[in-house]
Amino acid sequence: MSKIFIYNYINFRKRMVKILFIVLLIFFTDETVYLTGGTQSAFTHFMYIPILMAAFWGDIKFASITALICGISLGPFMYRNVIDEVMQEPKEWIFRLIIFTLIGIIMSFLFERIKQYKIKEIDKAFFNEKIGLANANKLKIDLAKRIKRKECFSLVAFQIANMDHINRSIDYRIGEASLEKAIHMFSDSSSSHEIYYIYNNEFAVVLPKYNVEDTYIKALKFLEEFREPVSIKGFKIEIVMKAGIVHCPSHSSNSDELFKKMELALDQASNSLDLCVYDAKLEKRNKEKYEIQMSLHDAINNKQFYLVYQPKISLNENKVIGVEALLRWKHPQKGFIDPEQFISIAENIGIINDITKWVIENTVQQLSQWQQKGFYINAAINFSTKDVKTDELVEFMKKCIKENRVNPEKIELEITERGAIKNLDFVKSLLNNARKFGFKISIDDFGTGYNSLFNLIKLPVDHLKIDKFFIDRINDLDGQIAVKNIINMAHKLDIKVVAEGVENQKQLEWLKQHECDYIQGYYYSKPLLPDELIKYVKTF
Ligand code: C2E
Ligand code: CA
Ligand code: CA
Repeated sequence: MSKIFIYNYINFRKRMVKILFIVLLIFFTDETVYLTGGTQSAFTHFMYIPILMAAFWGDIKFASITALICGISLGPFMYRNVIDEVMQEPKEWIFRLIIFTLIGIIMSFLFERIKQYKIKEIDKAFFNEKIGLANANKLKIDLAKRIKRKECFSLVAFQIANMDHINRSIDYRIGEASLEKAIHMFSDSSSSHEIYYIYNNEFAVVLPKYNVEDTYIKALKFLEEFREPVSIKGFKIEIVMKAGIVHCPSHSSNSDELFKKMELALDQASNSLDLCVYDAKLEKRNKEKYEIQMSLHDAINNKQFYLVYQPKISLNENKVIGVEALLRWKHPQKGFIDPEQFISIAENIGIINDITKWVIENTVQQLSQWQQKGFYINAAINFSTKDVKTDELVEFMKKCIKENRVNPEKIELEITERGAIKNLDFVKSLLNNARKFGFKISIDDFGTGYNSLFNLIKLPVDHLKIDKFFIDRINDLDGQIAVKNIINMAHKLDIKVVAEGVENQKQLEWLKQHECDYIQGYYYSKPLLPDELIKYVKTF
């Protein structure tokens, strides 16, 4: 109540100051006109100033009353010529009064339009007209107000993760309607909240007085509603909804930071775990990932990559029959970065092809250098799932071996089981093309993709690499059964088997007994630099 009174009082005072200012301007103009000899002087035009000010500060009524007063004050009581005491003709001052009033009305009308346009522009910056909700800018302002009032609250972002898919496979209007529907469903399920539109697939909700646990339960309950398809405009739509939660003040007491952390929590929520509370550790990991992303671009140009080669030993022949080329990255500040980490980032940001090209070029050049020293060996190169989407890299490999005069049979293309299965038909034709040219083909990480060997029969394959996961379990009955089955099946299909990650004698003996063909693992050797490899092979 007292706040309203103070507000009204301030407004009243402001208005009075403006009126006083206008009155003073009118008085000043009257005096100037009189002192400069009457209405025949040009100073009558000064009167436009109070009229324009009234039109700017007030409404049409205020502007026209001011204009009338201005017209009358320069009207019947003002001389046309003060020295000769000549009064004005009525038509003179009446005409002026009409002009003043018209100008007051027109200008007030124009100023009103400009003000309305400005209000609309401000609205646009804080409001999404289509959805009928305040937007992210307004959310940040409201968060700041709540923080200033020292309120405790939760902030949840909900995002339709498959919006692109809905837009592409059905229609973008169904996509829009899905967001509206989700907002509607949330409004129905809850009363004390404020909803904000964030992006075309995202909205945020402020839940006053909620702690993290209650927010989690509430959000989870809402997500549950999307386990079943939702009907939208006659379509049954599967909406994949995910959510990210932050709490004020537990996670931050700054509106921008809260917003940022809400978005991070949303990013951290994967589809399998579709609800995530902000976690500082995850943010650190994200930051690290981002830094790696940034420096990956320079890694090739700045010669931060190099290759090491891990020997593969044939148990039958008891000799080194080949190597696997493995990439190493020594970052100038961070030191060695785990290949699994940077390879997956490179896949995500779409530069894996360039990296694989670098590996191909350098491996082939290394083989050529070794050949010149009379040292002949096979080398396997890892292809990522994204490298086998087109035949570009196989063609590049052909070009490289021609230029370096290396026999294609010395090169093996390693593709993971998951990568092979993902796009089986294309991969099949690609591998056929590669094999026809003379390259060897190897299926990597076999057993981890939960695919039956049956699927892989369709592919032209020379080697199958049993993943370390199974070799680590070779002392258990389950592990033994799995490895035995893989070896038997592969041999029936005339495919040779490589055991990966063999670390001890016991594993080696068991694999020997069960006719595994090749061994790759620390038991024999870690990946080696080129010179170390030559020494290793010579002394094997
Ligand atoms: P991968 O292709 O399965 O390579 C085998 C990994 O197992 C290598 O790790 C190797 O050092 C490691 N390893 C071999 N024997 C043993 C052992 O006895 N014990 C243990 N603990 N580890 C063993 P690395 O070099 O760290 O590479 C990890 C993964 O990164 C590779 O798994 C591969 O998926 C990827 N990668 C490495 N270099 C490249 C590359 O040039 N291109 C692509 N696309 N991926 C690569
Ligand atoms: Ca490999
Ligand atoms: Ca592997």
